[in-house]
Amino acid sequence: MATRSKRSISRRVPGLERHEVTTQIVSTSPQAPSDLIYETAALTPGQVAAAVALARSAQREWGSNAFARANALRESANALRAKSAEAAALIVREVGKPIIEARGEIARAIAILDYYAQAALDPIGEVIPPSVPGVLLSTRQAHGVAGLITPWNFPIAIPIWKAAPALAMGNAVVIKPSEYAIGCARFLEELLATTLPANIFTVVSGLAETGQALIANSDVVSFTGSVGVGGKVVAAAAGRGIPVQAEMGGQNPAIVLPDADLQLASTHLAQAAMGFAGQKCTATRRIIVVGDIARLNEVSEALVAAVESLSPADPSQEGVVVGPLINSGAREKFVAAAQQATAAGGKLLTGGKVLERDGWFVTPALFTGLEADHKLMTEETFAPFTGVIGVRDVATAIEVGNSIRFGLTASVHGRDLEALLRVARELQTGMVKINTPTAGVDFHAPFGGTKDSSYGQREQGKDALRFYSITRTITIGAGTRMFE
Ligand code: NAD
Repeated sequence: MATRSKRSISRRVPGLERHEVTTQIVSTSPQAPSDLIYETAALTPGQVAAAVALARSAQREWGSNAFARANALRESANALRAKSAEAAALIVREVGKPIIEARGEIARAIAILDYYAQAALDPIGEVIPPSVPGVLLSTRQAHGVAGLITPWNFPIAIPIWKAAPALAMGNAVVIKPSEYAIGCARFLEELLATTLPANIFTVVSGLAETGQALIANSDVVSFTGSVGVGGKVVAAAAGRGIPVQAEMGGQNPAIVLPDADLQLASTHLAQAAMGFAGQKCTATRRIIVVGDIARLNEVSEALVAAVESLSPADPSQEGVVVGPLINSGAREKFVAAAQQATAAGGKLLTGGKVLERDGWFVTPALFTGLEADHKLMTEETFAPFTGVIGVRDVATAIEVGNSIRFGLTASVHGRDLEALLRVARELQTGMVKINTPTAGVDFHAPFGGTKDSSYGQREQGKDALRFYSITRTITIGAGTRMFE
């Protein structure tokens, strides 16, 4: 069995300078690693600079006509709608996302394109009372070229939720997708080539070097991915003095209050923790149960039953909620985490095993018995790996929930509205969900976290339009000329 499902190979190529090598990106299916999805060369920094230069010259006309942009975005939504089934099947095949979620991802991407097609015609400024006779205006206009760096886990929706507002405001977009989702990115590039002018939406394939070259040439940068890489992206963009936003990891808490409806809460929590094999930034990673030991046991039993009902299987089958991990490295990390949990005195309530079949499948792991400040509780494993922790009172639950460096999202489960609202208010996350899973936020609401989970302005909704544009102030003088 291969040890890596996707690989990059550096090799010398005839015709290139002696010092130049190409890196080959190979994307294969996580459920069937012998299934090759796409293979392509990584772009060199010089090639990235050339792609951005083409985008910059195409942007001038694109940025000058909001009606043309609105129409092109609406056509893009229609083009994706017409290819929904093909797009969903490609997501399943390339990243192992369960088909029901893949369909949801495409529906979200279409809705986003429709929303920003409308938003392209929103007001772009204000009229301000001037201090001297005349007119004082503020208007918003595009930065130029938006450099977008995206992860593999929402291979169509994340590129679209960055690109659509950037395009609506008149920017050209150059995107460096994850090497694990290059097939989906190429699909999108080909689709949008039929609805957008040339060089307005360009994909540059590659790894870190290609991503850094994109930052070095763009006018505004938006990143989604891990916290380690996000720090480097923010530093590079800030070093150039260009606007940057970064959406990164989470270690999201769910607080189960003593009066929570156990059946409802355990179903929500199992789905939020283990759906898509826990490979969402918004997945529930820490379940904090308020009450005595009897309550902890009762909640744990309900959770084990709910998690065990989600058996991992081929993600293309209807009804499957848990597919494989993205690659062998992710599976090794998961196995190591399960071993570390038991070595540190924790107990696996269920799961934590490799499935003996083709693909990177594991059984979703629920564990308990680790201190709240143990590394496995405070750092993201990005797998179906969730800890259960018992606390005596609500104040401690909030303290534990807030005790880590991440602050993306949280959920709270119970019946007493006053208590739910108080906990929601005191949790220090960018998003809070009440009696609903941590995963998922409407596409037209602001999306983002606090602390190390996010940097810069929120994504989605109207916030995104502000991020992808700059304010200019225009003063028109009047009343200085003398009339007879
Ligand atoms: P990753 O950080 O490994 O890669 C993200 C992107 O950055 C890829 O395109 C990658 O090629 C590129 N990259 C890697 N090194 C780079 C560098 N030095 N400079 C520039 N670009 C570089 O993340 P991933 O494994 O693709 O995705 C999983 C991570 O993304 C998880 O941590 C998850 O929590 C996070 N995520 C966050 C959100 C959110 O909105 N907060 C959404 C989805 C995923």
